[in-house]
Amino acid sequence: MTSLFDRAALAALLLACLGLAVLNWLHDHPGSNPWAPLVLTERPGWATARKLDALRADAGTCRAFLQHSGLADNPLPPQGEGACRREDRRTVLLAEAQLSPQRAEATCAVEAGLAWWLRHGVQSRAEAIYGSPVVELEHLGTVNCRRIGGGDTGAWSEHATGNGIDIAAFVLANGRRIEVRRDWKGGGRDAAFLHAVRDHACGAFSTVLSPDYNAAHADHLHLDQMRRPASWSVCR
Ligand SMILES: [Zn+2]
Repeated sequence: MTSLFDRAALAALLLACLGLAVLNWLHDHPGSNPWAPLVLTERPGWATARKLDALRADAGTCRAFLQHSGLADNPLPPQGEGACRREDRRTVLLAEAQLSPQRAEATCAVEAGLAWWLRHGVQSRAEAIYGSPVVELEHLGTVNCRRIGGGDTGAWSEHATGNGIDIAAFVLANGRRIEVRRDWKGGGRDAAFLHAVRDHACGAFSTVLSPDYNAAHADHLHLDQMRRPASWSVCR
């Protein structure tokens, strides 16, 4: 007859095995492990959105993401005054595509969002639809010391601190160019590509505004990393 001691030992052994199995599983699925630092190669899991949100909240966490992911870290000294003070300022250099114009300054969260979006959204859709990766992202700018809408009152734009970027077109390795203004509407593959990458950007940025939102965004996708309570995001 099994003693109470034997049953307790067996239960402890089973618990230890279960614990090891859980640890192994978390090790193999970092996207579902909230304690594993985010890296670019991570397959997205249920913890990924929270980890991406943490990059927006803390520049140090964001820089750690660049380092763990083997991405270049090109910080610049702070610049600007008041609402346009840019403490987190860097040259954006992407591994998988070139920005055009090339020299763009933005926050770490914008750089990280672009890297994540390219790796997990843009390139797979470009390969699936065209069989060719994106090599250039044409943009309309990152930093602009202004309020939303450009008036004298109201909230400051995320562009005021370089925490946003306006993407106007995508150039593929095969030379094809897909432009937001020209190709957004219609039932072709260019429109399908643009809508798909807009939708995916909603997971990498906290604000995504497309031509579907209003006429002011007819020629670009506005992507920014505004910090909002409880990971709340805007995707339109
Ligand atoms: Zn914008």
